[in-house]
Amino acid sequence: MDVPVDNNPARDALRGLYDLFQKSLTEHPDMLAWKGQAVRDSGFFAAPASAEARTLLTLWQEEGFAKKLREESNACGFPRNDYIFCGALLAVCAARALDSGNAVFALSLAQEATSYSQMDGFAQEVILKAHHALDPRLPSIEETEDWLKTRFCLRPFTMIETTTSGEFYRCCPSYLPLPIGRMETKDVGAVLNSSESRRIKDSILDGSFRYCSKLVCPFIGGRTLMSRAEGLAQMAVLPETPETIVFSHDLSCNLSCPSCRKERIVIPKDEQERFDSLTEDVLLPLMDKAKTINICGSGDPFASIHFRNLLIRYCRTAAPQSKRLLLQTNGVLCDAKAWESMGLEGHVREVQISIDAATPDTYAVLRRGGDFNRLKDNLGFLSALRRTGRIDQLILRFVVQAPNFREMPAFAHWGIALSVDGVQFSQLRNWGTFAPEAYAQACVTLNTHKDHAAFLALLEDPIFNHPVVQMGDIQNFRVPAQENS
Ligand code: SF4
Repeated sequence: MDVPVDNNPARDALRGLYDLFQKSLTEHPDMLAWKGQAVRDSGFFAAPASAEARTLLTLWQEEGFAKKLREESNACGFPRNDYIFCGALLAVCAARALDSGNAVFALSLAQEATSYSQMDGFAQEVILKAHHALDPRLPSIEETEDWLKTRFCLRPFTMIETTTSGEFYRCCPSYLPLPIGRMETKDVGAVLNSSESRRIKDSILDGSFRYCSKLVCPFIGGRTLMSRAEGLAQMAVLPETPETIVFSHDLSCNLSCPSCRKERIVIPKDEQERFDSLTEDVLLPLMDKAKTINICGSGDPFASIHFRNLLIRYCRTAAPQSKRLLLQTNGVLCDAKAWESMGLEGHVREVQISIDAATPDTYAVLRRGGDFNRLKDNLGFLSALRRTGRIDQLILRFVVQAPNFREMPAFAHWGIALSVDGVQFSQLRNWGTFAPEAYAQACVTLNTHKDHAAFLALLEDPIFNHPVVQMGDIQNFRVPAQENS
């Protein structure tokens, strides 16, 4: 690497680590498998990297570690967007802090690491280990891995999801971020049998779940995976083609929620037409054979021209009352008029509404561009559809963050009053929309957040034990609260 000469020990250490990181990456091209012992065995972690990491830790072992890392990375001339390196270095330093018994510092470094590179599996492992070190009542990694050996997940055998990058995945990409092929190939059969797809399935069959995020996956965190025996029995009778399709390739939305994006996004016309051109050869054949068609995990199906076109096209020819659609929406455009004009009647089994607030003021902040009164009217319409059996499931969703966590109990009560089937809570993730400092301010699940203790205390509210409430990955913070109650 061509670098300027200076006598800054931190920069010298950082340059050495950067070179080792690049070398280790070429030795471990599968970043997703680059965790646990694989990282500890790498040149990046071992001597002299360990000495260099210790140098950095000694120099910066106080507040502002990540800020200094960023400043020095810029001064060294590293690519500005080399967030994976920054995240990996923070994760290695976190592991070293944990090894030396400083779980609090380790946790804050590892949490910083995931704000640079949220799918860094090594950083996620350190977070789980630090949680356990700080509160032994929370599960250890070893307990989780032992439990997983007795469990099974059918998702990689039954599901396929598209993304805005035009790739297919075998689970939600934030739970299992290994792509299996591209949409444009049009040969979905080859994609379903790609080497990546087979490796993912093997990781379930061998009980390692090595590509799954033990931190993010709500089925692992919530301990709701089926038994291995049950999974193997069900797998034996599965069809060749996926039963569950999740379309997440169009980002278009009528809102710009801070947890998701910085500004309102409507994809350009040429991109919309490119997606439309896949309708007959790729999207409809997948939909025809699926039992559940989820639209969408990326924006809003009522705001996206592409998804509206797709839904109208599908509803024209799908069997009446087949109820195979699952719509994920912010609810603002989901009214009786849209329902009728798109021909949705009889085709929708489930509607999930992302709201993140129980009051108009918080809604205005977290659902930028939304209309709380219109949302409430539409919830009335959807609640009536549910009560009369015209849809089978109505779910309300809430991403927990600093401005809204105190409204969690009210939100649960609201959902129960509307007779919904589920009120789902989940942790805030950094999808690249937050600068690390802004994420640290918004993410109340970070142990360094000023309101973290208040958040933990609030989780003791008995409303969260109601059968309609689904705590998902928030449950990770709740085991002590349940035991105390
Ligand atoms: S990440 Fe979770 S949901 Fe996805 S395959 Fe693994 S266990 Fe199943």
